[in-house]
Amino acid sequence: MTVHPTNLLNLTPAEAVTTLRAFAVSVGEAPYRGSQVARRLWESPASGFDAMSELPADFRARLAEHFTMPRLALTSEQASTDGTRKFLFSLADGQSIETVAIPDGKRLTLCVSSQAGCALQCAFCATGAMGFVRNLEAHEIAGQVRELAFLAEPIKPTNIVFMGMGEPLMNWPAVDTVLTILNNPAGFGIGARHITLSTVGWLPGIEALEARKEQFRLAISIHAPSDALRATLMPVNTKFPLEAVIERAARFSRRVTFEYVMLGGVNDADEHATALAALAKTCGAFVNLIPLHPGGSMGFVPSPPERIHRFASRLKAANVEVAVRRSRGLDIAAACGQLRAERLRRRTPGLAHDDSQVNETA
Ligand code: SAH
Repeated sequence: MTVHPTNLLNLTPAEAVTTLRAFAVSVGEAPYRGSQVARRLWESPASGFDAMSELPADFRARLAEHFTMPRLALTSEQASTDGTRKFLFSLADGQSIETVAIPDGKRLTLCVSSQAGCALQCAFCATGAMGFVRNLEAHEIAGQVRELAFLAEPIKPTNIVFMGMGEPLMNWPAVDTVLTILNNPAGFGIGARHITLSTVGWLPGIEALEARKEQFRLAISIHAPSDALRATLMPVNTKFPLEAVIERAARFSRRVTFEYVMLGGVNDADEHATALAALAKTCGAFVNLIPLHPGGSMGFVPSPPERIHRFASRLKAANVEVAVRRSRGLDIAAACGQLRAERLRRRTPGLAHDDSQVNETA
């Protein structure tokens, strides 16, 4: 009988340590040997069992027979003059995913992907245009953080945002595990309030997030203050209409953030600001205005800066807290799905004129 090896990086830290301690005992080692291995998954990552020189060689060999701890292949990296860095990873089945690191003072935010492609087809989003390929496994999401610890100058994020490719709340079982890995002191030890999930308003996923006791942050992509307009931008609006999303957001136990991408001549008029302010007040939400990234944005044009400013002022005048995201990495293609899309088009990376909006409001 061949036993399928267990991927240790798909387990929560608690599951991994239990499994590994029991395994150590089963091969005649002391239980603490299992704990030693568990520490090398996330806290002090090892590139493989061979690299765990603190363990006896025969124990390492037995581990390798029963377990895996796969790496992601870093296939491309680009650095912006503003310090933003973008990484493209290749997965075991050849799929590519993006991760973006954004330094901002003492903070270093990592924007991770949760799916290869995306099923939701938001009209302005490059990932949507690719279509859905598959959900990422927990180790492929958490692995984006883990891999950066192996760089010659390791990157240690202080904040994580699920704003890369994919809809995290449509991949809940894996994302659930990843949240534990990110937050747990035996994982990456990143505070729950420094971890933000961004969603189109996938209601079953919001319930699942709400059921967790930690204070993970929720950001909702609103993008339009009426059903009619939102349906033209976000097909998911027919499944979960704006009204239902707002009703759920208003009941969420923690403060939510609204994301609102500024599309010139589409959703940036004064009356949109007035309507958005009313929705934000219903939910006590913080509003993040996102300048559109022109690259791959399918015919949409960014709102002019003065328009964004005026829109923000109207929200403020209505006593809504609002921030305009700064565009980062203007010289690299860092927006949702744009690096991968660009690769698929075989364009020269240097020609990209997109930017990265990814940040956090905390
Ligand atoms: N599926 C989730 C998370 C991924 S996208 C969600 O939709 O929230 C993260 C944010 O980037 C979303 O608000 C999304 O609408 C926005 N986005 C996608 N493409 C963009 C672009 N070209 N310019 C600006 N924001 C974009």
